Amino acid sequence: MRVFTAPAFDDHEQVVYCCDPSSGLKAIIAIHNTNRGPALGGCRIWNYASEEEALHDVLRLSKGMTYKSAMAHLDLGGGKCVVIGDPRQDKSEALLRALGRYVDTLGGRYIIAEDAGTSVEDMKVIGEMTPHVVGIADKVTGEGGTRSGDPSPATAYGVFIGLRAAVKHRLGRSDFHGLKVALQGVGHVGYRLAKQLHEAGAKLWLCDIYDDQAKHAGAEFNASVVSPDHIYEQDVDVFIPCALGAVINDDTISRLRAVVVAGSANNQLADDRHGEELMRRKVLYAPDYVINAGGLIDVAYERQPGGYNRDKMLRHIERIDDTLMEIFQRADNTGLPSNVIADKIAEERFKNPESSASIKTKRKRLGLNSTRSKKSDTRSKIKGPGPLYAPPFSPKVS
Ligand code: NAD
Repeated sequence: MRVFTAPAFDDHEQVVYCCDPSSGLKAIIAIHNTNRGPALGGCRIWNYASEEEALHDVLRLSKGMTYKSAMAHLDLGGGKCVVIGDPRQDKSEALLRALGRYVDTLGGRYIIAEDAGTSVEDMKVIGEMTPHVVGIADKVTGEGGTRSGDPSPATAYGVFIGLRAAVKHRLGRSDFHGLKVALQGVGHVGYRLAKQLHEAGAKLWLCDIYDDQAKHAGAEFNASVVSPDHIYEQDVDVFIPCALGAVINDDTISRLRAVVVAGSANNQLADDRHGEELMRRKVLYAPDYVINAGGLIDVAYERQPGGYNRDKMLRHIERIDDTLMEIFQRADNTGLPSNVIADKIAEERFKNPESSASIKTKRKRLGLNSTRSKKSDTRSKIKGPGPLYAPPFSPKVS
């Protein structure tokens, strides 16, 4: 299996293979970039058809986290973890503890959190083995918060805010009353989003590969339940992917009848060129890592000096509206697809992290803003882990 030359490798700093035969753990941790700070990203447990598929997924997800953090102005880098297995059958406390031990060996260069197939309870088990875990702090109930560390409500809240921006830009309306939406995947995020959209007056079509979840949500939100294969061609205004990635692809793109694509799933475009194709078809695409940053913002606030501040966290999430509006506007002005515009902005921020005021301040506090002339400063030429977040020792993993 190729790693350095894998199609999605894209200059990853580190890829760690984790194996624990006694618990059945087979996992891959990918750290894409730590220029802005330690790599934070969720852990996905999924029944991958092959190791190549798992590697491809983790590399794409981890890169997406670098872009997401930069776009949300967080002092974090991008990383992700995938565990090969069925979350309903293979997940065990022993497996999670073994994974926690691996995360710990990275000394804080990677911080783990929830993703598809993992929960707050799972992160608590991992937290027995390492302090480098988020998504477990108790959060007060309400919009964007539950009495748990679950980032999903914050993600759903951010997607709701982003959807409003996209609908306003494409359809010229600021309410959801009677808006027709097709929602794919009613898991942690999708279920909450369906609830908010139902309460806001939207008419829903939804699906899930688990029949019980789809039927339950369908009954609760007066929604039409359709089979996963037929969600794309529903006659709706908005398509909301809240399951897995690569759902906008050569097969599905021509079946879409929606004029807005905006949802929580990571890596919605199978390939960048699908963003261009959506634009050609006059479908407005809200770049996934911009609209789904709510959960990341939420868990990042757990690490703020002075502790978690819910109001500040919510105001931070609400900035997704302005960010998306700026992207849509720039896309209109330049004729470039929204995903390309978003990538350009994010790359400016993580490739030149020292332009960020908060990162500058942090470097100064740590005595890292030297007065060396540009000529003698070789830091920017050094590839690999940034100086701020080097681990205290070399991890014993490949
Ligand atoms: P989840 O596992 O709780 O929910 C995903 C749901 O999608 C499940 O119910 C699953 O059965 C369903 N599903 C899977 N494949 C499907 C298919 N082909 N058709 C229909 N349904 C399908 O995960 P989640 O936490 O709700 O996350 C959903 C997506 O949002 C993921 O891509 C995740 O990476 C992304 N995301 C989640 C968060 C978060 O805070 N949880 C944050 C950012 C991004």
